[in-house]
Amino acid sequence: PSIDSVKVAVRVRPFSQREKDAGSQCVISMNANSTTICDPKNPGHVKTFTFDLAYWSHSGFLKDEDGRLVSTGSDNRYAGQREIFCDLGQGVLDSAWQGYNATLLAYGQTGSGKSYSMIGCGADRGIIPIVCEELFKAIQNQEQNKQYQVTFSMLEIYNEQVIDLLSKTKKRGGLKVREDHQQGFYVDGLKQVPCDSYAQIERLMEQGTKIRTTASTSMNVTSSRSHVVITIQFKQIFLDEEITKQSVINLVDLAGSERQKSSGSEGDRLREGTHVNLSLTMLGNVISALAEMAVGKKVLHIPYRDSVLTKLLQSALGGNSKTIMIAAISPADMCYEETLSTLRYAERTKKIKNKAVINASPTE
Ligand code: ADP
Ligand code: MG
Repeated sequence: PSIDSVKVAVRVRPFSQREKDAGSQCVISMNANSTTICDPKNPGHVKTFTFDLAYWSHSGFLKDEDGRLVSTGSDNRYAGQREIFCDLGQGVLDSAWQGYNATLLAYGQTGSGKSYSMIGCGADRGIIPIVCEELFKAIQNQEQNKQYQVTFSMLEIYNEQVIDLLSKTKKRGGLKVREDHQQGFYVDGLKQVPCDSYAQIERLMEQGTKIRTTASTSMNVTSSRSHVVITIQFKQIFLDEEITKQSVINLVDLAGSERQKSSGSEGDRLREGTHVNLSLTMLGNVISALAEMAVGKKVLHIPYRDSVLTKLLQSALGGNSKTIMIAAISPADMCYEETLSTLRYAERTKKIKNKAVINASPTE
């Protein structure tokens, strides 16, 4: 197996309008792959974190004629969507072509730029659409003695319930997560749509996003409290050798990591708060346990079974997958505590070691 640590990248976004209006100061600085955060209440007090990659997307950009953000001539530090794709998305694709499972997770507080990096905004497409487009481009350029199968699924985890974002009929209580000796945890009855073009995936993503918005509007909640998991199953059938290579690509836009304000009153809001915390708390627990194990501590039990999210991410965390995490952060002093907690979370995550194997078997 190929044993490597979870790769971690941090990305800092521009000030939001709200932060600008509040006269925010930037508390983040980056130098090569180091990120430094400065305590606004105690400016001499700085902490530096080193990850695999650090992306400065805070300043030095302008809009090109298509409305994309690109770096300017004077301060050309702005890291745009293409750059992130080339460093991270291309790696996901390379792993998939080799037959490894790959996972990309975006973590951070609400508004920190998770969806921007993963899905994107208008012409500024994020990693997921570019990965899908490049996958089909590469398939078109392959030799004749291979066949390909691509399927796409998109689900939301909300309140420990799994909602199929590609299905218009909503199942009461959500779909069940089951366990199978061969494939581990899986969602029973989830729609897996066979795809043969990027345009098709684009439509599915649009449809899924629409269903997600409708669902959250009818439940009167914001989507920042749910996790979205997009899964691409990629199969290559080598006709001459009669071998099939298979890769599962998981692309995960996590719920906002901020601590929920305790509402205390309404039962629903309370339940939601605890559950969002449950999945993210359990993710944190799994990550901590794996990080301890990686530094040689004795860990008896990794609590994968304690939430839907950790069940579905079991292979991504400490298992058979090449895994990347993007830690999205705000630059503003008012977000200092949350940003610091995101950086610490990311620091634990990078200790996790995965053991990825190429999934190859004789063609059936
Ligand atoms: P999250 O998904 O973490 O809640 P979003 O991705 O929705 O946050 O980002 C919040 C806002 O910040 C959006 O308006 C988005 O367009 C903007 N934004 C986030 N990251 C960047 C970036 N790297 N460059 C430019 N704008 C960004
Ligand atoms: Mg989002």
